[in-house]
Amino acid sequence: MLTGLPNRLHFSKYLSEWMEQPAEPGLSAAVLFLDLDRFKQINDTFGHSAGDELIIDVAKKLSGGVRYAPVFRLGGDEFVVLASHRRREEVVETAEAILAALSEPVILQGQEIFVRSSIGISIFPGDAQDAEALLKNADDAMYEAKERGGGQYAFYSEATSESAAERLQLEQALHRALAAGEFELFYQPQYGGTDGRINGMEALIRWKHPAEGYIPPVRFIPLAEQTGEIRSIGEWVLREACLQGKRLQEHAPGLLTAVNLSPRQLDQPDLVERVRAILQETGMPAGLLELEITEEFFIRNQDKAEAALRQFKEMGIRLAIDDFGTGYSSFAQMKRIMPDTLKIDRSFIRGLDQDESNASIVQALITMAHSLKLKVVGEGVETEEELLSLRRFGCDEIQGYYYSKPLPLAELEALLKGAPSAASSDEDREERRGDS
Ligand code: C2E
Ligand code: CA
Ligand code: CA
Repeated sequence: MLTGLPNRLHFSKYLSEWMEQPAEPGLSAAVLFLDLDRFKQINDTFGHSAGDELIIDVAKKLSGGVRYAPVFRLGGDEFVVLASHRRREEVVETAEAILAALSEPVILQGQEIFVRSSIGISIFPGDAQDAEALLKNADDAMYEAKERGGGQYAFYSEATSESAAERLQLEQALHRALAAGEFELFYQPQYGGTDGRINGMEALIRWKHPAEGYIPPVRFIPLAEQTGEIRSIGEWVLREACLQGKRLQEHAPGLLTAVNLSPRQLDQPDLVERVRAILQETGMPAGLLELEITEEFFIRNQDKAEAALRQFKEMGIRLAIDDFGTGYSSFAQMKRIMPDTLKIDRSFIRGLDQDESNASIVQALITMAHSLKLKVVGEGVETEEELLSLRRFGCDEIQGYYYSKPLPLAELEALLKGAPSAASSDEDREERRGDS
């Protein structure tokens, strides 16, 4: 009634007819089950008439935005979109388009509010054979999307894949890991491009699982991001890195400490205050802390993150764009939040001495970065040839296995104590590399 959209009954009927007689042979049907995140809270805060307004707005956006895909309202804040398609990518595009359209701010009673939604997707004929079962599968997948933090879509087939049980176990273990003291930081030194001195280090987290041994960050960071656990983990990383970074000044005055920030941390309303408190508590000078955010995140969330990033810069904290070159950002975009450092992704460094196109890309990146007074770090440098090419292009800092793998604190400390503070010879470097 509220939206003028057909209801659940219409949906079942429509889908059954569709199944009997698809518009074209070879078409599949995707059931996109959509539910607003925290709709109840909006209702409670702004009142039911505002809630109704929001539902009408969502209905409009859905019917206006998804071409040729019929929209149904199941009730409350639940909608279903039926998307005929040939390829799975088309479904992904539709889901992403819906999420984008619905993430536009809505004015409710004169107030701008941001609403997110979650989408679960099931596919006919792959996942189920009748309307009821497809709807249930899509509903399950929608819960999976919510559990991952909301504001995203999930396919039924992956939500219920075999690894779900494994994932759940890992999730439970991850939940206890921080309190159990199972995290450790390793530090990878960054060497000056011309003099080979250690000017900085990047803190990289390791999880020492009691049964499974070391679990690499690529396996648990995405999970921690989905569960939101990354916020407390990230705060621990920052405190620990600042504590050690400050302490190591004794052996290496001016040593820079780089720490990775996850997107979910930048969503945290009090992130800036927490970082400020950690600096105070540890005595770490702001100018010796560098926060790394990935280029991909930077482009996608510039507006959202801009305020926090600007405040960091005002505090004197340095900003680095990580994995640079993978996200197709422009230097013009970059100028809005002037970062201090670009870290060139290791996919461009690999075989730099042999791959001409990589070489010209890296050379151009370095030249442009320098004209904007940005420092450039070459990441993942593994061979002497790669190092020599980077040196020739004027790359400021080198980070990679060629010089050193990420090291436990004690080993880094030994390295810093032993390292000559002036320019060192190539033999020294060769030796140090061997040590690690
Ligand atoms: P990243 O920030 O790009 O970190 C660099 C990764 O490259 C590290 O992997 C490092 O060990 C690896 N690496 C360094 N030199 C070389 C090399 O010469 N060759 C190769 N093949 N690899 C090299 P790691 O420690 O496994 O970390 C992986 C990713 O996990 C990091 O990528 C970062 O995105 C994330 N991560 C690590 N620690 C943290 C953390 O404390 N917080 C957050 N949010 N993310 C973290
Ligand atoms: Ca990094
Ligand atoms: Ca990187």
